[in-house]
Amino acid sequence: MGEVAAVVPAAGSGSRMETELKKQFLTLAGVPVLGRALRIIEACRSVGSIVIVVGPGDEAHCAAIARELGLSKITAIIPGGKERQDSVYHGLLALSGRTGTVVIHDGARPLLGVKELDGVIKAAREQGAATTAVPVKDTVKLAGKDGFVSRTLPRSRIWLTQTPQAFRYEIILEAHRRARERNFTGTDDAGLVEQLGLPVKLVPGTYENIKLTTPEDLILAEAIIKARRE
Ligand code: C5P
Repeated sequence: MGEVAAVVPAAGSGSRMETELKKQFLTLAGVPVLGRALRIIEACRSVGSIVIVVGPGDEAHCAAIARELGLSKITAIIPGGKERQDSVYHGLLALSGRTGTVVIHDGARPLLGVKELDGVIKAAREQGAATTAVPVKDTVKLAGKDGFVSRTLPRSRIWLTQTPQAFRYEIILEAHRRARERNFTGTDDAGLVEQLGLPVKLVPGTYENIKLTTPEDLILAEAIIKARRE
């Protein structure tokens, strides 16, 4: 079955957060956002190694966070690319040839749980590709070009995709290669596997596993951490 390796893309500029420090390096209750995500991945027993992808020049900062937290599964810290997809591709190329399954998790999602990681890895081993996701709570409208509603999507079938996402190594590598050949840029990795025509299993995630994007997400994340402590 091969080893399970994690790729953590954390090379974004975080411009929508409007903070001087990139969002993955901001601290939440004393621990950097990226460090929180790495700590959970490290705690997942089935994950054997972790490759972190950071902005060029951020390697030492990232290594310092890993050292501070005593993380031992990190095998490489490498520079990312222009788009998230480029960063993940760089990460995939840095994995060992013994890798059987890859789990990809955004460095900007500090509130994941080991249970979701185990669930998505198991589903990927069985099905080839899997993503965590949660059912949408609001009704989703598809917009037309003119600012009017084009149509209402069936709420019971709409899921919000998160990371972690997990894949058999050869499938995700092929999906990225094909996307690059075609100049296709997706917003997640599972989407690239869908482009190959292969099935992607939905694994229930949690609403707490938010991606830090805009300033109010930090308030929410702090509140979730506080509630978990109490
Ligand atoms: O921009 P967004 O929040 O969707 O990014 C999701 C994840 O991808 C973040 O952890 C971010 O750091 C990472 N990313 C990356 N390389 C890029 C852009 C984003 O690793 N060029």
